[in-house]
Amino acid sequence: MAKQDYYEILGVSKSADEREIKKAYKRLAMKHHPDRNQGDKESESKFKEIKEAYEILTDAQKRAAYDQYGHAAFEQGGMGGGGGYGGGGGGGDFSDIFGDVFGDIFGGGRRQRASRGSDLRYNMDLTLEEAVRGVTKEIRIPTLEECDVCHGSGAKAGSKPVSCPTCHGQGQVQMRQGFFTVQQACPTCHGRGNIIKDPCTKCHGHGRVERAKTLSVKIPAGVDTGDRIRLEGEGEAGEQGAPAGDLYVQVQVKAHKIFEREGNNLYCEVPINFAMAALGGEIEVPTLDGRVKLKIPSETQTGKLFRMRARGVKSVRGGAQGDLLCRVVVETPVSLNEKQKQLLRDLEESFGGASGEKNSPRSKSFLDGVKKFFDDLTR
Ligand SMILES: [Zn+2]
Ligand SMILES: [Zn+2]
Repeated sequence: MAKQDYYEILGVSKSADEREIKKAYKRLAMKHHPDRNQGDKESESKFKEIKEAYEILTDAQKRAAYDQYGHAAFEQGGMGGGGGYGGGGGGGDFSDIFGDVFGDIFGGGRRQRASRGSDLRYNMDLTLEEAVRGVTKEIRIPTLEECDVCHGSGAKAGSKPVSCPTCHGQGQVQMRQGFFTVQQACPTCHGRGNIIKDPCTKCHGHGRVERAKTLSVKIPAGVDTGDRIRLEGEGEAGEQGAPAGDLYVQVQVKAHKIFEREGNNLYCEVPINFAMAALGGEIEVPTLDGRVKLKIPSETQTGKLFRMRARGVKSVRGGAQGDLLCRVVVETPVSLNEKQKQLLRDLEESFGGASGEKNSPRSKSFLDGVKKFFDDLTR
């Protein structure tokens, strides 16, 4: 049975561009989709035909081969046939002789596809505020983009890549070595199956040009160092119309003057003077949303950690908001005037000496510990 022409199957002209082909395919595929035509054998085979036509015509290389050779381009054995690699009958091991020369080419037969573009990585430094709240940033990245003159084909306007005359689009050639037939990547097209006779003047046949592009990247709220955001298809363009790679934005959060982040919690250190520590009071502490008041109970020791619920970070992965943990540090007063010094001397005296047990809970337990330590030593 003669096969119908791919262009006719999709109902498009021979000069149809990719968009037209996609549109026609979508329309026909919807109509003949097996899900919509249950048990209808004719629709089923029609659907297969449409799919096949679409796959060939949206692949630049296959389309070029089809344009030149018709259906014969894809028929098994149509061009040169499968290599007859017999041998092995003689006494010597011939593969040893040829192995080094030809490497791994026996029975290759498959054509190399034009390769997908590389993935790119962009390192983005964020302030803690940006990471916590989310931000949209413009970035400029150097990248290889599809050439806008030839639309990635690499061929000069008005021309197309043509099937390689050496290998007839197979990407492989067969060579006779005595009674062996061996296959090898085509030296003319380097395995691609097509060649560009008339290269595009802008990209010189590569189908890609180097260009810096500006992208607007939306960073979701709650990201942290090590998170990465994938931008599909924003990497380098592929060769000759192959799909582009992806762009990965790697997040690095800069150190903050006040806060340190650990998971979803934020830590900060707040100095208080020792009168406040002893008597208690109220101080203002910073949060990412502004100042809030924190009650300091009387007799607060240095290093005490105060937890403020839900003042931390809400993770990009969801879950409860973290806490803000404020560690108070009792400061030793400096630059005292004579009057202040006198007040402190009076205070010290009232403690009954530097180690006034009643007023200094830590000193008491420390001194008790030291005493026991020496007692144990002399025992
Ligand atoms: Zn070009
Ligand atoms: Zn070739």
